[in-house]
Order: sequence, then structure tokens, then C-alpha cells
Amino acid sequence: MAKVRPHLAGLAILSSAALTACTTVTAVPPPPELGIPAFYTQYRDADGIPVVSSSAVPEDALLAAEAMIEDMLAYRPDLATWLQREGYRVAIIAEDEALLDLPENAHWTKPAPDDPRLTRCEKKHYEERIGRLTDRAYWDARARGIGGQHTVGSEEDVLGLTSSRYYGETILVHEFAHNILFAIQAVDPALYTQVEAAYANALANDLWLNEYATTTVQEYWAEGSQIWFESNRLTVVDGTRILNREDLASYDPALYAVLARAYGDVTRLAGDPFYRHPARVPPGPIPENTAEVC
Ligand SMILES: [Zn+2]
Repeated sequence: MAKVRPHLAGLAILSSAALTACTTVTAVPPPPELGIPAFYTQYRDADGIPVVSSSAVPEDALLAAEAMIEDMLAYRPDLATWLQREGYRVAIIAEDEALLDLPENAHWTKPAPDDPRLTRCEKKHYEERIGRLTDRAYWDARARGIGGQHTVGSEEDVLGLTSSRYYGETILVHEFAHNILFAIQAVDPALYTQVEAAYANALANDLWLNEYATTTVQEYWAEGSQIWFESNRLTVVDGTRILNREDLASYDPALYAVLARAYGDVTRLAGDPFYRHPARVPPGPIPENTAEVC
């Protein structure tokens, strides 16, 4: 297939720069002083944020994640400093690993029926989608990535492999955007208040009606970040299509304005496999609404 694969171009640039500098781009074992579990044998440093994995993950996946994270933080080094100080790190799981294979997640249980993070459809069909599953089966089906102090991304996602169950969007951008909002909440409360105001305005005007973005202010921000960097799947709300940054600017200018305060002039992430990728738009007729029907 002749699809443009921006991540390959991005990595080629990294590699040639490395050759010019006569250094080698390699993952190394995590420095012991970071106290990272022995499970993780590969390590890269993304502006002070460790990117780690087991030996099952190809090095290219760590490099792609590192490049995306560095670009997401490029405009706001103050946010990177906070994340570093608070011990944030990013683990990449191999295609044949799962969230609960990671030592820090081995004890995870499934969410309770009143968990505020449940989506509209998960709440409605709780017993069928969650209640009847084991903790392990729930998480295996639910996610290949998660945000927070111990963020997780997956090999197939950061490399844009067709085996990704989310092929057409870059989930790491979504998950790391959660971390950026946590940092904003801590170091730039005035901006966080503006994000909350944008979210309240969006809810009041049904801007993202029934979309994942309406779940919490965090999901609103993370979905908006994916559109800002143009590696999210197409959203359609009552016939209005939101795919690229300029669509977002005209559809939800309040969200666009707060994203601009975090990302500035960085609009493309090096290593992002789905940047302006044709797979962002699913084949077939464009629906009137992309929100899940349940
Ligand atoms: Zn999220």
C-alpha cells in the first residue's frame, strides 16, 4: 500500500540526525536511581519523563513515544518540570502484553457501577459490559492505554500498526494529554479554570452531544488535544464534521483557545503515526453523528 506513514519519515529524521552526531539512538536499562521496577529493561528520557518497556517492545516504539511526548511538552516546559517532579512515567506494552501485565497494574479491579469515569453507554449496560466480566477480562477489552502518573501506551498504537484496535487515531496523544491537564491544574490554575469554563459551555450547548468528550473535563481536553494534533478519528455532530485543527477552531473556539495556551505553535508531533492520516475517516458513507448508539 502506498499510504503515507509520517512516523517512518519522523524516525528517519531522528536516525539521520543521530548518525550526523555520531551517536546511537538506543534504549538502555533505566537508571537505578529512578526506582523503576525490574520488569522494565528498556528506557528513554523524554524531557525528564521516563519512557520504559519490557524487552518485548521494539526500540522504535519507545523512540516514537519519546518524540511525541517531547513535542507535546515543547511549548510548556513548566508542565514537563511538574510531571517529572511528580514521578510521571510512560510504559509501552508490546502487542502481546496487556495493561495488567505491568507490575504496577497487576492488582487492578474493574470500575464499580458508580465510578464517575464510566461512559454513558457503560453505565447503561453495566452488567453486560462490566459486571459479568473478571477484572482481567474487563481491562483487556477496555483499554490498551491509560493516562496518569503511570501512563501506558502500546506498541501497535505508537507505531500505527494495522493491528491496533484504534487504527486511525493515536491513543498515546489522548493519554498523555490527560497528564498535561493534571499539570495545568497544578501549575496554571487560571488556565484550568478556563478549561472548565470551555467544558461547561460545550455541555450547555450540546457541542459534543453523546461523544466521549462529554464524559468528564479530562476526556473533553484529551479528545480536543487529539484534534489539535490532527491524529484523531473523524467526529460528526448533527452533520458537522470535526477532523482538523481549523474545524475545531470554528466549532469550539473556547476549547481551541485553551489548547493553544498549552501547545502554542506546535501543531504536529514528530513520530505521530496518524497525523493527517486517511484512516482517520472510516470507509463508507459519513454518518450524521459518530457518537456511540447504545
Ligand atoms: Zn481519556
